[in-house]
Amino acid sequence: MKVTVVGAGLAGSEAIWQLAKRGIHVDVFEMRPKRKAPAFVSGDFAELVCSNSLRSDAKDTAVGVLKEEMRLLDSLVIRIAQETRIPAGSALAVDRVAFARKITETIEALDNVTIHREEVTEIPDTPCIIATGPLTSDALFIKLQGLIGTQSLYFYDAIAPIIDKSTIDMTKVTRASRYDVGEDYLNCPLNKEEFERFYDFLIQAELAPLHDFEEQIFFEGCMPIEVLAKRGPKTLLFGPMKPVGLSPEPYAVVQLRQDDAADTLVNMVGFQTRLSWPAQREMLKFIPGLKSAQIARYGVCHRNTYLNSPLFLDKHYQFKKIPGLYFAGQMTGVEGYVESSASGLIAGLSLARALLDQDPLPLDNTTVIGALSTHISQGNPKHFVPYNANFGLMRCQSEVKPSARRTALAAQAIANIETLVKSL
Ligand SMILES: Cc1cc2nc3c(=O)[nH]c(=O)nc-3n(C[C@H](O)[C@H](O)[C@H](O)COP(=O)(O)OP(=O)(O)OC[C@H]3O[C@@H](n4cnc5c(N)ncnc54)[C@H](O)[C@@H]3O)c2cc1C
Repeated sequence: MKVTVVGAGLAGSEAIWQLAKRGIHVDVFEMRPKRKAPAFVSGDFAELVCSNSLRSDAKDTAVGVLKEEMRLLDSLVIRIAQETRIPAGSALAVDRVAFARKITETIEALDNVTIHREEVTEIPDTPCIIATGPLTSDALFIKLQGLIGTQSLYFYDAIAPIIDKSTIDMTKVTRASRYDVGEDYLNCPLNKEEFERFYDFLIQAELAPLHDFEEQIFFEGCMPIEVLAKRGPKTLLFGPMKPVGLSPEPYAVVQLRQDDAADTLVNMVGFQTRLSWPAQREMLKFIPGLKSAQIARYGVCHRNTYLNSPLFLDKHYQFKKIPGLYFAGQMTGVEGYVESSASGLIAGLSLARALLDQDPLPLDNTTVIGALSTHISQGNPKHFVPYNANFGLMRCQSEVKPSARRTALAAQAIANIETLVKSL
């Protein structure tokens, strides 16, 4: 029994581990160090391309709970992250060189893994996991376009912040559509003074760094709200913040549109942005109704190859039309180091179970790892965007007050994964 894994980034490394430790032979194809996408510097597996932080370890955050779920499921990435941890308060930050080196050495030491330092330019035969990440090489990108169509394979993200609806002050917003036709939005109205304060903040707010290789994409395809703002306040008042058609008509408006089937998340219409994460949090304080709102998914404008997964993948990350072909990592529509690793864990474990004739993993949105699977397989394909782990994607099995929801979700998720692990 042999499996091909393409790409030994975070997701690929985790998938290799899950397969190999179950006795399955893995042929790994990793193009580095021969070919390196511009964000990478080494030939090591699981290189962290930007920050060295795997974000919060606290159990009252979704990413903290996800890490605990992954620990229970014997994640290689989380184990090595613990072993190479450096002080960073409640965040799990690592010595990035030691982290990538240890993952590489662990995989190299596995008897049933063969490593090929080669670029893959064709979709391999099954069984196979493709985990080539947001910077998938051009040759494979073209083959993936052939497999799923040019409209369903995205090349960059230009995404507005997505907000946890339960954290919006509903007394300050109205529900209405422009001219009373079409879809209803939540409207955050701003008077002249509020708009001017918002505008003054926006034109000087801090930006996330732009990589050289992203400049072209940025100018071609993505027009962030802060770039529009710098053209003058009227660009916003006649653009994404135009108040026309609302009654009574405010001076300006921020519109929020439902983003998920469960109606727990909303996105800020026309607010794709490259502001830094702290600046995005600060921006909300200038918008009536959003002063205490929590961002479930930050806005971004960056290079990011990803599939419109709900059209193609099932909850085990398997390509529905070709049994035995799996995808994993950021390219499936999860976002972040931990989430990418988590999807590699589920893809690797699911493929191993299929090859060993075992029942498919039971997964649903009562756990964080299951909520990510649900997002990539059942998200809305009309405006599918990658997501970080967040409680807004989850379903609570018991009736609890909104203030107790996070604690209940965290406890339920860990209990459910403990039960799952016992059954494996
Ligand atoms: C510039 C940038 C910065 C980011 N910063 C952060 C951050 O700070 N924090 C965070 O949480 N997330 C960040 N992300 C998002 C995401 O978490 C990371 O990209 C993460 O590394 C994704 O993991 P992955 O396993 O899906 O892909 P990767 O880690 O990118 O792994 C994919 C692997 O596939 C290999 N590969 C690609 N094409 C081929 C091919 N044809 N044949 C063989 N091998 C191939 C690559 O060399 C690579 O090793 C960032 C993304 C980008 C693009």
